[in-house]
Formats: sequence, C-alpha cells, structure tokens
Amino acid sequence: MAGGKKGNTLEITEAAVRAQVEVEAELGNDGLQLPAPLTAFPRVSTAAVSADRVALAPPAPPPAPPPARSDPLVAAHALIGRGHTSEYRAEQLEQLAIAAASCTACALHRNRQRSVFARGSIDAELVLVGEGPGQEEDLRGLPFVGPAGQLLDRMIDAMGFDRDDVYICNIVKCRPPNNRTPQPDEAIACARFLTPQLELVSPKVIVALGRCATEHLGVAPASGPWRGQWKSYRDIPVMPTYHPAFLLRSPEYKRVVWEDLQAVLARMGRKPRPRA
Ligand code: URA
Repeated sequence: MAGGKKGNTLEITEAAVRAQVEVEAELGNDGLQLPAPLTAFPRVSTAAVSADRVALAPPAPPPAPPPARSDPLVAAHALIGRGHTSEYRAEQLEQLAIAAASCTACALHRNRQRSVFARGSIDAELVLVGEGPGQEEDLRGLPFVGPAGQLLDRMIDAMGFDRDDVYICNIVKCRPPNNRTPQPDEAIACARFLTPQLELVSPKVIVALGRCATEHLGVAPASGPWRGQWKSYRDIPVMPTYHPAFLLRSPEYKRVVWEDLQAVLARMGRKPRPRA
C-alpha cells in the first residue's frame, strides 16, 4: 500500500497517486478523468488470512455414482463438483440453466426476457459472482455483457486470465426491475440454482462482486468493512470486492479493487498479466 497510515485513514502520497495512475492503466479509466488528488482512502483492514484452501485442499474423493436424474436440482445439490467428470457437471449445469429459464419461484420472472445463468468455463478455478442481470444481459441471456461487463473483462484480463477461462454468474438469474438490488426473498429463491452451480463448478476461489453478492453468499460481516478480507463459502475462499458498476461511477476505488484482485492471484499462485 503506497499511502502512509494515519489514524483511521491512509494519507495519500505521491507514490499512491502514481499507483492510482498504474491501476488506471491496468483497468482502464473508461474515459473518465482521474479523480482530483485524493486526500484520504478508507482504512483497509489487514486481518489475517485463514489457511489456504488451495494449498491444503485434500485430494478429491472418488466420484460418487451419478444420482437419479429425475430431479436435477436435488441431484445437483448432492454433488461436490470436482469428484465428477466434466461431462457430468456440464450436463447438470445445463439442466439447472434449463430449469432457471422457466422458473417462477419469485416475482422477477414476470419481466424476464431471458434468464441469465452463466458464462465461461465450468472447469474454471476462479468464479466471479455478481448481483443480477441488467438490461443488456436480460436481452442476450449472458451475464456481464453491458458496460460493467466490459470493465469486468478488463479486470479479468489484467489478472492474466482469458475472458472464457473464468466462470461468471449472478445471485439472481432474472433481471430486477430498473436494475434495483435483488430483494432477500428473490436471492433466497434463486439459491436453488446458485448453490448447486457453485458446487458443480467448485472453483479454487470466488470473487464476490459488490455488497449484494457478498451478503447473499453469507460472507458479509454484521458491521464494519465488508470488502478486501478473505471469507469462506462452503469451504471455498471468497474475496469480496466492489462491483464494476460502482467502479464506473467511482473510479477512484479501482485501486483497492486491484489490491483485492492481486490478493486473489497470490492465493491462486498466479501473477498479473505483465503490462505490454
Ligand atoms: N451487473 C451484475 O451484477 N450482473 C450482471 O450480469 C450485469 C451487471
């Protein structure tokens, strides 16, 4: 961290401003000017990171026999993803996506053009979980394909991943009216898809994009800072960070998001893409 700590704030030094410029170069500044010289950032907690699941994960259990196929939701719930073949997991995820497309478990289905299940590789080691589809996503049936998605793609690229090497999904699969935050009952209804989805992909690390995703993955603290600290979702390490749509409005926070993403890379034993 380039700034010096002072009380509850970080004093911004010339080095910090230089770091900000580098982050803008990594993640793009979306045509927006760098913020006027910053005077303070919120204090970033340096809480200790718990034991590394990536390094300490026990060997995968032998594959269980595939469960009965009559109820894909129940069947998928019974899985712990990596014990099964890629083909089997792909089929189960496909069944979940089909079920999501005709789901009427909450009010969000009423305005749905298309449900938005996921994009990316089901073998991904990194999963990013957003909030819910926006207008563009609702029309195309794919997550993060609008303006926030373009920024997210640049973040993924800066991390050194190809766009399709990660797996991206949302807390809710149908667009909330006017892009409002999903309500708790909607998120709970949609967990019937998200829970088996995450178990089937079974990544090494999850990045929760925004407070909504952080809360509905059950990893938000009752109070205090909610981003930038390792949490755990069903034994999968989770790094909560700001949502790209928020970064489009407040690009000065790209710097702390890049720190969060670098922590993710370190935990995965990877390095950012070298800058051209
Ligand atoms: N914001 C989200 O949280 N998810 C999307 O798919 C698009 C925008």
